[in-house]
Amino acid sequence: MYVAFDDTDSTESMCTTFLATEVVDAMREYDLIGLPRLVRLNPAVPWKTRGNGALSMRFGEGKGQATLVGMIRDQPIYCYPKMIKPAPTGKIMDRCSYLVEKWSRVQEGASPGLVVSPKRPSQGLYWKAVRDIVEKKEVTDELDRIGAKRFELAGGRGVIGSSAAMSWRPRDRTYEVIAYRERSRWGTPREISDDSVWKMDQRFKTTFNNFDETVGRRAISPHTNCPVLFGIRGDDPFVLPSAMHSVESEPVDRWLLYLSNQGTDDHVVHSWKELVPERSYDVVATVIEGPRTIKGGHVVIGTLTDMGSHLLDMTAYEPSKTFRDIIKQLAVGDRIRAYGEVRESPRTLNLEKLQVLAAVAKFEKVANPRCGQCGKSMQSMGSSGGYRCKKCGAKASEDAAEKRKVERAISVGWYEPPVCARRHLSKPLKREGAAVQRISL
Ligand code: ATP
Repeated sequence: MYVAFDDTDSTESMCTTFLATEVVDAMREYDLIGLPRLVRLNPAVPWKTRGNGALSMRFGEGKGQATLVGMIRDQPIYCYPKMIKPAPTGKIMDRCSYLVEKWSRVQEGASPGLVVSPKRPSQGLYWKAVRDIVEKKEVTDELDRIGAKRFELAGGRGVIGSSAAMSWRPRDRTYEVIAYRERSRWGTPREISDDSVWKMDQRFKTTFNNFDETVGRRAISPHTNCPVLFGIRGDDPFVLPSAMHSVESEPVDRWLLYLSNQGTDDHVVHSWKELVPERSYDVVATVIEGPRTIKGGHVVIGTLTDMGSHLLDMTAYEPSKTFRDIIKQLAVGDRIRAYGEVRESPRTLNLEKLQVLAAVAKFEKVANPRCGQCGKSMQSMGSSGGYRCKKCGAKASEDAAEKRKVERAISVGWYEPPVCARRHLSKPLKREGAAVQRISL
């Protein structure tokens, strides 16, 4: 039996993944089939709280090799690769709806949705929800078709994210182990040694986005009052618990390992005709207007896209910090591939990642040209352009000046923002070519 929930937290408190630990704990009478799933959806939806994440898991009578995937209230949590019999819908719905009601922050704006289903919804729902905007009606029609039950509070918008998370069949996948804080510490500053996080990052090579070298600070812990102490992401689920234990911190109250679509670039649309706001695209283009820094420290370039020949501004925003220095090195004529979200106003592609496909040769003038007739150095004609020989009156074009090739500070290849400025779904360059672990959980 599949269970999924979303939109239970607010910007002020809680975290839907904490509710996942409460659900897993309350369902101990059944086995967890496969890993719990933390599924990120379209990062551009206007009504997300933070990272637009939804949770999905499966319960029943398990079969096969049990794997330790968490520890809650000092009791181990195991999951099983196969299921013999599903858990009963009624019992799951009763317990989970109680927990959703207990932990949801409805007064602070949450719109919770819980879905319990014997089948996964069509996977087209996941692809639409991770890349586009989905209407609730579309989702409830699909839930009715597969015989799913739902529980909603305050409008139940969370049903959209829940169903999309449940419908995910991974093509690419990563993992995250999340460690949670003791209840008495919620809302207080987190005690975590940055140095131990740096060491963990160096030691566990299949993990990613742990430490931001540009600011010398860990990137694994949130800045909010939520119950999460830290989360470590990686390609190998089996090393994540060891990586977690190597971090020196305040006591870990509980932890749970998740299967996730984080760091996969699933949100990026590669083939398109029109660029629609609130979606993220892969755009091949030529730079037609040099970089300019605007108010707020954002860096903008003007481009002409290959697909559809659209004029499109691309912006590296201030929070992307050193990434802006890369964009500042671009020159008119450079060929680029950019990943980013289209903003409506001002219309721009909000840059998430960039590949320089070809960098034009840049030249600087070293001297005025010599006259082809008398060999004298020619003089510039100023704003009218070109050169004239003072002695014999011969003329030469602007191009005739002696030039030297300038070494470009940018070369062909991929560039990305520092760790702190990356989106949950953005595939870090470190993962390119990463062997996908096929854990049969
Ligand atoms: P957190 O990451 O802290 O759990 P959040 O950023 O996931 O919070 P939510 O409170 O879950 O934010 O709000 C996101 C809301 O958007 C949910 O109600 C979810 O159902 C809905 N939603 C998610 N993706 C889409 C989409 N593609 N189209 C329409 N609605 C969506």
